[in-house]
Amino acid sequence: MADGLRIAVIGAGIVGTSCAFFLQRDGHQVTLVDPREPGTGTSFGNAGIISLYSIAPVLTPALLRKVPALLRDRTSPLAIRWRYLPRLFPWLVRMVANARPKRVEALAQALAQLLARADAAHDTVIQECGLGALVRSGGWLKVARKEETLLSSIAFDRRLWDRFGRRYRLLDRKELHDLEPALAPDLEAGVLLEENRAVLDPCGYVQGIARGFYERGGRFLRAWAEGFAFQDRRIVAVSTSAGRLVVDAVVLAAGAFSKRLAALGGMRLPLDAERGYHVMLPHPPQSLSRPVYSCDHGFILAPMAGGIRLTGGVELASPWAKPDYRRIRRLVPLAQRLLPGLEAKIVSEWQGCRPTLPDSLPVIGRVPSCPNLVLAFGHQHIGLTLGPLTGRLIADLFAERDPGIDLSFYAPARFR
Ligand SMILES: Cc1cc2nc3c(=O)[nH]c(=O)nc-3n(C[C@H](O)[C@H](O)[C@H](O)COP(=O)(O)OP(=O)(O)OC[C@H]3O[C@@H](n4cnc5c(N)ncnc54)[C@H](O)[C@@H]3O)c2cc1C
Repeated sequence: MADGLRIAVIGAGIVGTSCAFFLQRDGHQVTLVDPREPGTGTSFGNAGIISLYSIAPVLTPALLRKVPALLRDRTSPLAIRWRYLPRLFPWLVRMVANARPKRVEALAQALAQLLARADAAHDTVIQECGLGALVRSGGWLKVARKEETLLSSIAFDRRLWDRFGRRYRLLDRKELHDLEPALAPDLEAGVLLEENRAVLDPCGYVQGIARGFYERGGRFLRAWAEGFAFQDRRIVAVSTSAGRLVVDAVVLAAGAFSKRLAALGGMRLPLDAERGYHVMLPHPPQSLSRPVYSCDHGFILAPMAGGIRLTGGVELASPWAKPDYRRIRRLVPLAQRLLPGLEAKIVSEWQGCRPTLPDSLPVIGRVPSCPNLVLAFGHQHIGLTLGPLTGRLIADLFAERDPGIDLSFYAPARFR
Protein backbone atom coordinates (compact mmCIF):
# COMPACT_ATOMS: atom_id res chain seq x y z
CA MET A 1 0.00 0.00 0.00
CA ALA A 2 1.46 3.42 -1.01
CA ASP A 3 1.25 5.70 2.07
CA GLY A 4 -1.83 4.09 3.51
CA LEU A 5 -4.77 5.90 5.05
CA ARG A 6 -4.68 8.28 8.01
CA ILE A 7 -6.71 6.29 10.52
CA ALA A 8 -7.68 7.30 14.06
CA VAL A 9 -8.38 4.37 16.36
CA ILE A 10 -10.40 5.59 19.35
CA GLY A 11 -9.80 3.53 22.50
CA ALA A 12 -6.59 1.76 23.54
CA GLY A 13 -7.96 -1.36 25.19
CA ILE A 14 -7.08 -4.81 23.87
CA VAL A 15 -9.48 -4.26 20.94
CA GLY A 16 -8.38 -0.77 19.85
CA THR A 17 -4.67 -1.46 20.37
CA SER A 18 -4.97 -4.66 18.31
CA CYS A 19 -6.79 -2.75 15.54
CA ALA A 20 -4.03 -0.11 15.59
CA PHE A 21 -1.33 -2.81 15.43
CA PHE A 22 -2.82 -4.72 12.50
CA LEU A 23 -3.68 -1.53 10.55
CA GLN A 24 -0.19 -0.05 11.04
CA ARG A 25 1.27 -3.41 9.98
CA ASP A 26 -0.66 -3.04 6.71
CA GLY A 27 1.03 0.31 6.04
CA HIS A 28 -1.59 2.78 7.28
CA GLN A 29 -0.70 5.87 9.31
CA VAL A 30 -2.49 5.12 12.54
CA THR A 31 -3.07 7.35 15.56
CA LEU A 32 -4.34 5.57 18.66
CA VAL A 33 -6.40 7.99 20.78
CA ASP A 34 -7.07 7.49 24.48
CA PRO A 35 -6.84 9.72 27.56
CA ARG A 36 -5.22 6.82 29.46
CA GLU A 37 -2.30 4.51 28.82
CA PRO A 38 -3.05 1.49 26.59
CA GLY A 39 -4.56 -1.45 28.45
CA THR A 40 -5.61 0.44 31.55
CA GLY A 41 -9.40 0.35 31.00
CA THR A 42 -11.41 -2.86 31.25
CA SER A 43 -8.58 -4.70 29.52
CA PHE A 44 -6.48 -4.15 32.67
CA GLY A 45 -8.49 -6.20 35.08
CA ASN A 46 -9.81 -9.29 33.34
CA ALA A 47 -9.10 -12.87 34.33
CA GLY A 48 -6.55 -13.26 31.54
CA ILE A 49 -8.16 -16.30 29.95
CA ILE A 50 -7.93 -16.76 26.20
CA SER A 51 -11.26 -18.45 26.46
CA LEU A 52 -11.88 -20.45 23.31
CA TYR A 53 -14.70 -22.36 25.03
CA SER A 54 -16.96 -19.34 25.71
CA ILE A 55 -19.25 -20.24 22.84
CA ALA A 56 -22.53 -19.71 24.70
CA PRO A 57 -24.02 -16.22 24.55
CA VAL A 58 -24.15 -14.23 27.79
CA LEU A 59 -27.73 -15.20 28.62
CA THR A 60 -28.84 -18.79 28.05
CA PRO A 61 -32.26 -20.34 28.84
CA ALA A 62 -30.70 -22.17 31.82
CA LEU A 63 -29.20 -18.97 33.26
CA LEU A 64 -32.41 -17.03 32.70
CA ARG A 65 -34.27 -19.51 34.94
CA LYS A 66 -31.73 -18.93 37.73
CA VAL A 67 -31.84 -15.11 37.64
CA PRO A 68 -34.38 -14.57 40.47
CA ALA A 69 -32.40 -16.79 42.87
CA LEU A 70 -29.10 -15.17 41.86
CA LEU A 71 -30.45 -11.69 42.55
CA ARG A 72 -31.50 -12.72 46.07
CA ASP A 73 -28.06 -14.12 47.06
CA ARG A 74 -25.50 -11.54 48.33
CA THR A 75 -22.54 -13.64 47.15
CA SER A 76 -24.00 -14.75 43.81
CA PRO A 77 -22.32 -13.71 40.57
CA LEU A 78 -25.20 -11.39 39.57
CA ALA A 79 -26.16 -8.03 41.05
CA ILE A 80 -28.23 -5.13 39.81
CA ARG A 81 -28.44 -1.51 40.97
CA TRP A 82 -32.20 -1.10 40.87
CA ARG A 83 -32.03 2.65 40.28
CA TYR A 84 -30.45 1.94 36.90
CA LEU A 85 -33.24 -0.45 35.87
CA PRO A 86 -35.37 2.07 33.91
CA ARG A 87 -32.34 2.98 31.74
CA LEU A 88 -31.33 -0.67 31.38
CA PHE A 89 -34.81 -2.04 30.72
CA PRO A 90 -34.80 -1.89 26.86
CA TRP A 91 -31.39 -3.62 26.81
CA LEU A 92 -32.64 -6.29 29.23
CA VAL A 93 -35.75 -6.96 27.16
CA ARG A 94 -33.61 -7.50 24.06
CA MET A 95 -31.17 -9.64 26.03
CA VAL A 96 -34.03 -11.88 27.21
CA ALA A 97 -35.44 -12.09 23.65
CA ASN A 98 -32.03 -13.38 22.57
CA ALA A 99 -32.16 -16.18 25.15
CA ARG A 100 -34.76 -18.16 23.15
CA PRO A 101 -33.30 -21.62 22.44
CA LYS A 102 -33.25 -21.29 18.62
CA ARG A 103 -31.70 -17.84 18.81
CA VAL A 104 -29.06 -19.05 21.27
CA GLU A 105 -28.04 -21.74 18.77
CA ALA A 106 -27.57 -19.13 16.01
CA LEU A 107 -25.60 -16.80 18.31
CA ALA A 108 -23.40 -19.68 19.48
CA GLN A 109 -22.59 -20.42 15.84
CA ALA A 110 -21.59 -16.78 15.30
CA LEU A 111 -19.40 -16.75 18.42
CA ALA A 112 -17.87 -20.13 17.57
CA GLN A 113 -16.63 -18.94 14.18
CA LEU A 114 -14.79 -16.07 15.89
CA LEU A 115 -13.42 -18.23 18.69
CA ALA A 116 -12.12 -20.81 16.21
CA ARG A 117 -9.82 -18.11 14.78
CA ALA A 118 -8.90 -16.26 17.97
CA ASP A 119 -5.80 -18.29 18.83
CA ALA A 120 -4.09 -17.68 15.50
CA ALA A 121 -4.45 -13.90 15.91
CA HIS A 122 -2.94 -14.15 19.43
CA ASP A 123 -0.05 -16.14 17.94
CA THR A 124 0.64 -13.28 15.51
CA VAL A 125 0.84 -10.63 18.24
CA ILE A 126 2.74 -12.95 20.61
CA GLN A 127 5.38 -13.65 17.95
CA GLU A 128 5.64 -10.20 16.41
CA CYS A 129 5.53 -8.27 19.71
CA GLY A 130 7.62 -10.79 21.69
CA LEU A 131 4.95 -11.58 24.28
CA GLY A 132 5.60 -15.31 24.77
CA ALA A 133 6.70 -14.85 28.41
CA LEU A 134 3.29 -13.39 29.33
CA VAL A 135 1.27 -16.37 28.11
CA ARG A 136 0.90 -19.76 29.72
CA SER A 137 -0.58 -22.94 28.20
CA GLY A 138 -2.24 -25.59 30.35
CA GLY A 139 -5.93 -24.85 30.03
CA TRP A 140 -8.62 -23.58 32.32
CA LEU A 141 -10.12 -25.68 35.10
CA LYS A 142 -13.71 -25.68 36.37
CA VAL A 143 -14.18 -27.41 39.71
CA ALA A 144 -16.97 -28.34 42.12
CA ARG A 145 -17.46 -29.96 45.48
CA LYS A 146 -19.95 -32.44 44.04
CA GLU A 147 -19.81 -34.11 40.67
CA GLU A 148 -23.53 -33.34 40.06
CA THR A 149 -22.84 -29.62 40.55
CA LEU A 150 -20.04 -29.72 38.00
CA LEU A 151 -22.07 -31.67 35.46
CA SER A 152 -25.15 -29.48 35.76
CA SER A 153 -23.05 -26.30 35.69
CA ILE A 154 -21.30 -27.27 32.43
CA ALA A 155 -24.20 -29.14 30.76
CA PHE A 156 -25.18 -26.40 28.35
CA ASP A 157 -21.60 -25.47 27.43
CA ARG A 158 -20.60 -29.08 27.08
CA ARG A 159 -23.10 -29.61 24.30
CA LEU A 160 -21.55 -26.64 22.48
CA TRP A 161 -17.99 -27.87 23.11
CA ASP A 162 -18.98 -31.22 21.58
CA ARG A 163 -20.73 -29.55 18.66
CA PHE A 164 -17.81 -27.26 17.84
CA GLY A 165 -15.06 -29.79 18.51
CA ARG A 166 -13.45 -28.29 21.63
CA ARG A 167 -11.37 -30.81 23.59
CA TYR A 168 -12.05 -31.15 27.31
CA ARG A 169 -11.28 -33.73 30.00
CA LEU A 170 -13.52 -34.64 32.95
CA LEU A 171 -11.44 -35.23 36.08
CA ASP A 172 -12.19 -37.27 39.18
CA ARG A 173 -10.93 -36.22 42.61
CA LYS A 174 -7.49 -37.84 42.20
CA GLU A 175 -6.88 -36.49 38.71
CA LEU A 176 -7.99 -33.04 39.83
CA HIS A 177 -5.63 -32.95 42.80
CA ASP A 178 -2.75 -34.42 40.81
CA LEU A 179 -3.18 -31.51 38.41
CA GLU A 180 -3.66 -28.76 41.02
CA PRO A 181 -2.40 -30.04 44.41
CA ALA A 182 -3.02 -26.68 46.11
CA LEU A 183 -6.82 -26.95 45.72
CA ALA A 184 -8.99 -27.87 48.70
CA PRO A 185 -9.23 -31.64 49.22
CA ASP A 186 -13.05 -31.58 49.41
CA LEU A 187 -13.34 -30.77 45.71
CA GLU A 188 -14.67 -33.88 44.05
CA ALA A 189 -14.70 -33.15 40.33
CA GLY A 190 -13.35 -30.91 37.62
CA VAL A 191 -13.21 -30.37 33.91
CA LEU A 192 -10.05 -29.26 32.14
CA LEU A 193 -10.60 -27.04 29.11
CA GLU A 194 -7.33 -28.05 27.58
CA GLU A 195 -6.95 -25.65 24.67
CA ASN A 196 -7.23 -22.38 26.62
CA ARG A 197 -4.18 -20.29 27.37
CA ALA A 198 -3.82 -17.68 30.09
CA VAL A 199 -2.27 -14.23 30.01
CA LEU A 200 -0.27 -13.52 33.17
CA ASP A 201 -0.52 -9.73 32.94
CA PRO A 202 -3.42 -8.55 30.73
CA CYS A 203 -2.38 -4.88 30.90
CA GLY A 204 1.25 -5.76 30.08
CA TYR A 205 -0.03 -7.81 27.14
CA VAL A 206 -1.89 -4.80 25.66
CA GLN A 207 1.12 -2.57 26.30
CA GLY A 208 3.30 -5.13 24.49
CA ILE A 209 1.00 -4.92 21.45
CA ALA A 210 1.16 -1.12 21.71
CA ARG A 211 4.97 -1.33 21.67
CA GLY A 212 4.79 -3.43 18.48
CA PHE A 213 2.53 -0.72 17.03
CA TYR A 214 4.94 2.13 17.98
CA GLU A 215 7.90 0.20 16.56
CA ARG A 216 6.14 0.16 13.19
CA GLY A 217 5.66 3.94 13.33
CA GLY A 218 2.25 4.12 15.05
CA ARG A 219 1.45 7.20 17.13
CA PHE A 220 -0.36 7.55 20.46
CA LEU A 221 -2.41 10.66 21.21
CA ARG A 222 -3.29 11.01 24.87
CA ALA A 223 -6.71 12.64 24.53
CA TRP A 224 -10.47 12.17 24.69
CA ALA A 225 -12.19 11.85 21.31
CA GLU A 226 -15.09 14.27 21.60
CA GLY A 227 -16.79 14.41 18.20
CA PHE A 228 -16.43 14.27 14.44
CA ALA A 229 -16.37 16.76 11.55
CA PHE A 230 -18.18 15.50 8.44
CA GLN A 231 -18.06 16.25 4.75
CA ASP A 232 -20.34 14.39 2.30
CA ARG A 233 -21.33 11.76 4.89
CA ARG A 234 -17.69 11.03 5.67
CA ILE A 235 -15.65 11.89 8.75
CA VAL A 236 -12.83 14.28 7.86
CA ALA A 237 -11.58 15.03 11.37
CA VAL A 238 -11.90 13.86 14.96
CA SER A 239 -12.15 16.61 17.56
CA THR A 240 -10.20 15.64 20.63
CA SER A 241 -9.30 17.23 23.94
CA ALA A 242 -5.82 17.76 22.43
CA GLY A 243 -7.01 19.36 19.18
CA ARG A 244 -8.31 18.37 15.78
CA LEU A 245 -7.07 15.21 14.10
CA VAL A 246 -7.49 15.11 10.30
CA VAL A 247 -8.33 11.59 9.14
CA ASP A 248 -9.35 9.44 6.19
CA ALA A 249 -11.11 6.92 8.45
CA VAL A 250 -11.96 6.19 12.08
CA VAL A 251 -12.13 2.94 14.03
CA LEU A 252 -14.25 3.32 17.15
CA ALA A 253 -13.08 0.84 19.81
CA ALA A 254 -13.89 2.61 23.08
CA GLY A 255 -15.40 -0.49 24.70
CA ALA A 256 -18.39 0.18 26.95
CA PHE A 257 -17.99 3.93 26.31
CA SER A 258 -18.51 3.75 22.55
CA LYS A 259 -22.23 4.46 22.48
CA ARG A 260 -22.20 8.26 22.30
CA LEU A 261 -19.55 8.48 19.57
CA ALA A 262 -21.28 5.76 17.54
CA ALA A 263 -24.51 7.77 17.74
CA LEU A 264 -22.65 10.91 16.59
CA GLY A 265 -21.53 8.85 13.61
CA GLY A 266 -25.15 7.93 12.85
CA MET A 267 -25.42 4.53 14.54
CA ARG A 268 -27.60 4.18 17.64
CA LEU A 269 -26.74 0.90 19.35
CA PRO A 270 -28.13 -0.82 22.44
CA LEU A 271 -24.73 -1.06 24.15
CA ASP A 272 -24.54 -1.39 27.92
CA ALA A 273 -22.01 -2.36 30.56
CA GLU A 274 -21.75 -5.61 32.47
CA ARG A 275 -19.55 -4.33 35.22
CA GLY A 276 -17.00 -6.60 36.86
CA TYR A 277 -14.60 -6.50 39.80
CA HIS A 278 -11.40 -8.10 40.94
CA VAL A 279 -9.23 -8.17 44.02
CA MET A 280 -5.56 -9.16 44.00
CA LEU A 281 -4.32 -11.49 46.75
CA PRO A 282 -0.74 -12.64 47.36
CA HIS A 283 0.24 -16.00 45.91
CA PRO A 284 0.12 -18.68 48.63
CA PRO A 285 3.32 -20.75 49.12
CA GLN A 286 1.75 -23.44 46.94
CA SER A 287 -0.20 -21.66 44.22
CA LEU A 288 -2.24 -22.53 41.14
CA SER A 289 -0.74 -23.20 37.74
CA ARG A 290 -3.85 -22.29 35.70
CA PRO A 291 -7.09 -20.30 36.22
CA VAL A 292 -9.72 -22.14 38.25
CA TYR A 293 -13.47 -21.46 38.16
CA SER A 294 -15.66 -22.47 41.10
CA CYS A 295 -18.95 -23.94 39.86
CA ASP A 296 -20.24 -23.75 43.45
CA HIS A 297 -19.82 -19.99 43.74
CA GLY A 298 -19.28 -18.60 40.23
CA PHE A 299 -15.88 -16.94 40.70
CA ILE A 300 -12.47 -17.36 39.11
CA LEU A 301 -9.06 -17.56 40.76
CA ALA A 302 -6.49 -16.63 38.15
CA PRO A 303 -2.78 -16.95 38.96
CA MET A 304 -1.06 -13.89 37.54
CA ALA A 305 2.37 -12.30 37.52
CA GLY A 306 1.44 -10.09 40.49
CA GLY A 307 -0.55 -12.55 42.63
CA ILE A 308 -3.85 -14.39 42.55
CA ARG A 309 -6.67 -12.46 40.88
CA LEU A 310 -10.12 -13.19 42.30
CA THR A 311 -12.79 -12.11 39.81
CA GLY A 312 -16.35 -13.00 39.32
CA GLY A 313 -19.75 -11.90 38.49
CA VAL A 314 -21.68 -9.21 36.78
CA GLU A 315 -23.07 -6.01 38.20
CA LEU A 316 -25.71 -4.30 36.08
CA ALA A 317 -25.30 -0.58 36.71
CA SER A 318 -24.36 2.59 34.88
CA PRO A 319 -20.81 2.44 33.50
CA TRP A 320 -20.22 5.76 35.32
CA ALA A 321 -21.48 4.61 38.75
CA LYS A 322 -19.04 4.45 41.67
CA PRO A 323 -17.62 0.97 42.36
CA ASP A 324 -19.05 -1.02 45.27
CA TYR A 325 -16.43 -3.54 46.38
CA ARG A 326 -18.52 -5.22 49.08
CA ARG A 327 -19.63 -8.18 46.96
CA ILE A 328 -16.16 -9.07 45.64
CA ARG A 329 -14.74 -8.78 49.18
CA ARG A 330 -17.40 -11.22 50.40
CA LEU A 331 -15.95 -13.79 48.01
CA VAL A 332 -12.52 -13.79 49.66
CA PRO A 333 -13.44 -16.34 52.40
CA LEU A 334 -15.04 -18.56 49.74
CA ALA A 335 -11.85 -18.30 47.69
CA GLN A 336 -9.85 -19.34 50.76
CA ARG A 337 -12.00 -22.45 51.04
CA LEU A 338 -11.15 -23.29 47.44
CA LEU A 339 -7.44 -22.58 47.85
CA PRO A 340 -6.61 -23.17 51.52
CA GLY A 341 -3.17 -21.51 51.47
CA LEU A 342 -4.62 -18.19 50.32
CA GLU A 343 -4.24 -15.25 52.70
CA ALA A 344 -7.17 -12.82 53.01
CA LYS A 345 -4.87 -9.88 52.33
CA ILE A 346 -6.32 -7.69 49.59
CA VAL A 347 -3.44 -6.03 47.76
CA SER A 348 -5.58 -4.04 45.31
CA GLU A 349 -9.17 -3.72 44.12
CA TRP A 350 -10.45 -2.91 40.64
CA GLN A 351 -13.67 -2.41 38.72
CA GLY A 352 -14.27 -2.35 34.95
CA CYS A 353 -17.04 -2.48 32.34
CA ARG A 354 -17.60 -5.32 29.90
CA PRO A 355 -19.09 -3.82 26.74
CA THR A 356 -22.15 -5.91 25.89
CA LEU A 357 -24.76 -5.78 23.16
CA PRO A 358 -28.00 -7.71 23.78
CA ASP A 359 -27.17 -10.48 21.29
CA SER A 360 -23.71 -11.03 22.88
CA LEU A 361 -21.97 -10.42 19.54
CA PRO A 362 -19.52 -7.59 18.95
CA VAL A 363 -20.01 -5.02 16.21
CA ILE A 364 -17.23 -5.33 13.64
CA GLY A 365 -17.93 -3.37 10.49
CA ARG A 366 -18.72 -0.11 8.75
CA VAL A 367 -21.53 2.27 9.59
CA PRO A 368 -23.67 2.29 6.43
CA SER A 369 -24.57 5.98 6.66
CA CYS A 370 -20.92 6.96 7.28
CA PRO A 371 -18.75 4.40 5.51
CA ASN A 372 -15.38 5.63 6.79
CA LEU A 373 -16.48 5.00 10.39
CA VAL A 374 -15.76 1.42 11.42
CA LEU A 375 -17.03 -0.02 14.71
CA ALA A 376 -15.12 -2.55 16.83
CA PHE A 377 -16.67 -3.00 20.27
CA GLY A 378 -19.12 -5.07 22.27
CA HIS A 379 -16.86 -8.00 23.14
CA GLN A 380 -18.65 -8.76 26.42
CA HIS A 381 -16.85 -11.40 28.55
CA ILE A 382 -14.36 -12.40 25.85
CA GLY A 383 -12.69 -9.19 24.72
CA LEU A 384 -9.21 -10.35 25.69
CA THR A 385 -9.82 -13.52 23.69
CA LEU A 386 -11.21 -11.76 20.61
CA GLY A 387 -9.19 -8.51 20.66
CA PRO A 388 -6.31 -9.53 18.36
CA LEU A 389 -8.68 -11.32 15.95
CA THR A 390 -10.86 -8.19 15.79
CA GLY A 391 -7.76 -6.17 14.91
CA ARG A 392 -6.95 -8.60 12.12
CA LEU A 393 -10.54 -8.54 10.80
CA ILE A 394 -10.62 -4.73 10.80
CA ALA A 395 -7.34 -4.64 8.85
CA ASP A 396 -8.82 -7.16 6.37
CA LEU A 397 -11.84 -4.93 5.96
CA PHE A 398 -9.69 -1.89 5.10
CA ALA A 399 -7.55 -3.96 2.75
CA GLU A 400 -10.65 -5.56 1.18
CA ARG A 401 -9.06 -8.96 1.93
CA ASP A 402 -11.22 -12.03 2.40
CA PRO A 403 -11.55 -12.34 6.21
CA GLY A 404 -12.29 -16.05 5.88
CA ILE A 405 -15.56 -15.76 7.81
CA ASP A 406 -19.03 -14.35 7.33
CA LEU A 407 -18.87 -10.90 8.93
CA SER A 408 -22.58 -10.17 8.42
CA PHE A 409 -23.34 -11.57 11.92
CA TYR A 410 -21.40 -8.66 13.42
CA ALA A 411 -22.67 -5.90 11.13
CA PRO A 412 -23.54 -2.72 13.06
CA ALA A 413 -26.73 -2.38 10.98
CA ARG A 414 -28.22 -5.58 12.44
CA PHE A 415 -29.96 -3.57 15.20
CA ARG A 416 -31.94 -1.41 12.80
C1 LIG B 1 -13.89 -9.05 35.82
C2 LIG B 1 -13.67 -9.29 34.35
C3 LIG B 1 -13.06 -10.46 33.93
C4 LIG B 1 -12.88 -10.71 32.57
N1 LIG B 1 -12.21 -11.84 32.17
C5 LIG B 1 -11.97 -12.04 30.85
C6 LIG B 1 -11.21 -13.16 30.43
O1 LIG B 1 -10.70 -13.93 31.24
N2 LIG B 1 -11.04 -13.36 29.10
C7 LIG B 1 -11.55 -12.51 28.15
O2 LIG B 1 -11.40 -12.76 26.97
N3 LIG B 1 -12.23 -11.39 28.54
C8 LIG B 1 -12.45 -11.15 29.85
N4 LIG B 1 -13.15 -10.04 30.24
C9 LIG B 1 -13.68 -9.13 29.22
C10 LIG B 1 -12.63 -8.20 28.65
O3 LIG B 1 -11.83 -7.65 29.68
C11 LIG B 1 -13.31 -7.07 27.87
O4 LIG B 1 -14.19 -7.62 26.91
C12 LIG B 1 -12.26 -6.25 27.14
O5 LIG B 1 -11.31 -5.74 28.04
C13 LIG B 1 -12.89 -5.10 26.37
O6 LIG B 1 -11.83 -4.45 25.71
P1 LIG B 1 -12.05 -3.10 24.95
O7 LIG B 1 -10.76 -2.79 24.28
O8 LIG B 1 -13.28 -3.19 24.12
O9 LIG B 1 -12.40 -2.05 26.11
P2 LIG B 1 -11.46 -1.32 27.19
O10 LIG B 1 -10.36 -2.16 27.64
O11 LIG B 1 -12.40 -0.78 28.23
O12 LIG B 1 -10.84 -0.13 26.37
C14 LIG B 1 -11.62 0.96 25.94
C15 LIG B 1 -10.73 2.19 25.96
O13 LIG B 1 -11.46 3.27 25.39
C16 LIG B 1 -11.08 4.45 26.04
N5 LIG B 1 -12.08 5.47 25.77
C17 LIG B 1 -13.35 5.54 26.23
N6 LIG B 1 -13.95 6.65 25.76
C18 LIG B 1 -13.03 7.28 24.98
C19 LIG B 1 -13.04 8.47 24.22
N7 LIG B 1 -14.11 9.26 24.12
N8 LIG B 1 -11.90 8.85 23.56
C20 LIG B 1 -10.79 8.08 23.61
N9 LIG B 1 -10.73 6.93 24.31
C21 LIG B 1 -11.84 6.54 24.99
C22 LIG B 1 -10.97 4.04 27.50
O14 LIG B 1 -10.14 4.96 28.22
C23 LIG B 1 -10.35 2.65 27.37
O15 LIG B 1 -8.95 2.68 27.48
C24 LIG B 1 -13.34 -9.77 31.60
C25 LIG B 1 -13.94 -8.58 32.03
C26 LIG B 1 -14.10 -8.34 33.39
C27 LIG B 1 -14.73 -7.05 33.82
